[in-house]
Amino acid sequence: MFAHDELFHAFLIKYAEIGIKGKNRYLFEDALLNQIRFALKDADGEFRVRKESGRVYVEALSAFDFDEVVERLSRVFGVAGICPMVQFDDHGFEEIKSRVLEYIGKIHPEGNFTFKVQTKRAKKSFPMESGEISAALGEAVLEAYPSLRVDVHEPDVYFYVEVRDRINLYSKVIPGPGGLPVGTSGRAMLLLSGGIDSPVAGWMIAKRGVKIDAVYFHAPPYTSERAKEKVVDLARLVSRYAGPMDLHVVNFTDIQLYIYDQCPHEELTIIMRRYMMRIAEKIAEEAGALGLITGESIGQVASQTLPSLACTNEVCAMPVFRPVIGFDKQDIVDIAQKIGTFETSIQPFEDCCTIFVAKHPVTKPNVKIIRRSEERLQEKIGGMVEEAIRSREILHIS
Ligand code: ATP
Ligand code: MG
Repeated sequence: MFAHDELFHAFLIKYAEIGIKGKNRYLFEDALLNQIRFALKDADGEFRVRKESGRVYVEALSAFDFDEVVERLSRVFGVAGICPMVQFDDHGFEEIKSRVLEYIGKIHPEGNFTFKVQTKRAKKSFPMESGEISAALGEAVLEAYPSLRVDVHEPDVYFYVEVRDRINLYSKVIPGPGGLPVGTSGRAMLLLSGGIDSPVAGWMIAKRGVKIDAVYFHAPPYTSERAKEKVVDLARLVSRYAGPMDLHVVNFTDIQLYIYDQCPHEELTIIMRRYMMRIAEKIAEEAGALGLITGESIGQVASQTLPSLACTNEVCAMPVFRPVIGFDKQDIVDIAQKIGTFETSIQPFEDCCTIFVAKHPVTKPNVKIIRRSEERLQEKIGGMVEEAIRSREILHIS
């Protein structure tokens, strides 16, 4: 086996959706370049990330770790495919031919597949046309590797040859995560708990190009420092995809105790969730976010029945995005595993909702009744909410 990083010194980055954004295309490309740079920031090696006539290239300027770079690039939203590429200077057709033959010997030693050579000649001063180059290369490949066959309709392998200022040669397309580059779709505020669902929800919205920040409600001493650390760890894991984010840690203890004192216990969770949404919305407004994100899924727990969701939703004017709303738990777990948050999410630390949970929480809250219960909080709650927002801790996660 040869070392990938000896042969490949560059990657062609394919992007699907962002190619079709018309005049906005430049914004999308620039956001993609930024996100790629961020992803490679502390990778081993030095890289140049640049765009050239509708293509994005990552070029290694030093020794680097191939697997590490591919792994990092496959976390950048907007990347549809990562093509490890051999680049060389243009010294005419013979040079291309010998490079292609050498490449096949190294990369595809299995020697029993169908192929097609696809040439794109952007450099019009090159003396052969695209079709001619492909045909001549195909012939040379068949001669050198008699066990290969040409299939122009459904080949197993495409050999792409691009004749530009330099020559690009590639055949492997490693799938990227798809989506849109973060920073192209505005901002939203994720309600991030220590559970399985909310990190997945944040990841899904970030995948659509939304820049996210997060808010976590903790209730010391009922929830421990370790529970908070776990949320910080989750924010870090999400930021590997979503880029740097602010994590707003709100002390919720006094509000929670006050609700516990004043309101019927079976309504505690729902009222608490309404205050979480109200506070999150205020912080979101300050941060310039246009929506909230939660990990709610219909029917998963008492606070996520349709009446409960409606009752929680009613307190905020901002749109609330619930990307996992129709997912079964297992669907969410599958994504959590894929994106690497699952193991952290299942660490057993108490969550501020579970401490005061009633034995029989309401599952069909009546909004009017809940509003009436909340009137019992009138005296102090306004000041407490303000204080919780004012005294929040803001952690910069990257
Ligand atoms: P998760 O796995 O995301 O914790 P869950 O199944 O435990 O979800 P709930 O505890 O009812 O569900 O929370 C529903 C949603 O409310 C969470 O997905 C999250 O977005 C938000 N949320 C709950 N608790 C907190 C908290 N302590 N801080 C911030 N957001 C929270
Ligand atoms: Mg939870």
